Amino acid sequence: MDRPLGQVYAVNRTMEVNLISDTVTRPSVAMLSHMTQAPVGDDVFKEDPSVNALEAKVATMFGKEAALFFPSGTMANQTAIKLHTQPGEQVICDHYAHIFNYEGGGASFNSGVSCALIEGERGRITAAQIKEKINPADFYHSPKTSLVVLENTTNKGGGACYSSTEIERIHQLCKEENLPLHLDGARLWNAMRATSTSPSFYGEQFDTISICFSKGLGAPIGSALLGSKEHMQKALRVRKMLGGGMRQAGFLAAAASYAIDHHWEDLDNDHRRAKELGEAVLQLNGVRYLAPVDTNIVIFELKSPLLETSFMDAMKERSIQLIGMGSGKLRFVTHRDYTEEQHNYVMDCLKKIIL
Ligand SMILES: *Cc1c(COP(=O)(O)O)cnc(C)c1O
Repeated sequence: MDRPLGQVYAVNRTMEVNLISDTVTRPSVAMLSHMTQAPVGDDVFKEDPSVNALEAKVATMFGKEAALFFPSGTMANQTAIKLHTQPGEQVICDHYAHIFNYEGGGASFNSGVSCALIEGERGRITAAQIKEKINPADFYHSPKTSLVVLENTTNKGGGACYSSTEIERIHQLCKEENLPLHLDGARLWNAMRATSTSPSFYGEQFDTISICFSKGLGAPIGSALLGSKEHMQKALRVRKMLGGGMRQAGFLAAAASYAIDHHWEDLDNDHRRAKELGEAVLQLNGVRYLAPVDTNIVIFELKSPLLETSFMDAMKERSIQLIGMGSGKLRFVTHRDYTEEQHNYVMDCLKKIIL
């Protein structure tokens, strides 16, 4: 190796703060060092010890028979949809769902399915709403309902968490209706910290679960799909078909494993800082509305487009990046590379802005 690990990523020398997404984190020196020591092999032949170890580890954690490592959460979700549906059938989800809005139309392209959308509350849907959307099995004029997908936490819904009670109700309904239930758990690690729920609870309630290592946990790449042995056997073929078979992926699996062991609890810091950002934002005169801050996402709305421009300019001048979500809504997302020092700086800036 011809350069020290610390130089692999750029160190922030000036106070540049990126609150665009929790996907912007870079691996720490300790994580990179752990990665370089990973034993690897060809995972397309299922001979990468580090990938196999990660899959076994997360399957056990969630009480599922098997797991499969994926390059992205999108591919893990798309594979799940393919496992549970046939072309022409229909998936029930919230109108904010990532699988509907942000996977490039993949559900229709890869699986030939349509989505029956529910206008839930901050991306969350209820058992009663789902029940209404299920097409009668013998009514052949309508698409056959074949899958229900929940998201926890919700992305477009601003990091909202489901209650265990509602998940249990939905699980019960799906069992009665003989419908598989998939969880898009890209930020399930956040939800589990925020609601003190365990992986095994989700393992019991859902047929398949996608989890992500490259958001709050801070690994560079990777997601996993969890489910029965039979489902994961099929998923292996779908993943191959989608081009997601990777060779010495053990380096990435090692990062994911390290992140679970060392980073999961740190999400509490992201949640606290997000709450504090929300409180500071609410003090600004120009703010019309702040969505509840349940985890690491802060969504707020300004009173006019003019104010939005001046707020964005004020942030830019101070080297603080955030994202505009359209229709006057703005978003901060906290993450593990958003340090306490940066947080104090942003809080101070928010106190000084006149809006
Ligand atoms: C980020 C995200 C995904 C997957 O994203 P990738 O960028 O493909 O890893 C899936 N669902 C939700 C809710 C997300 O926020």
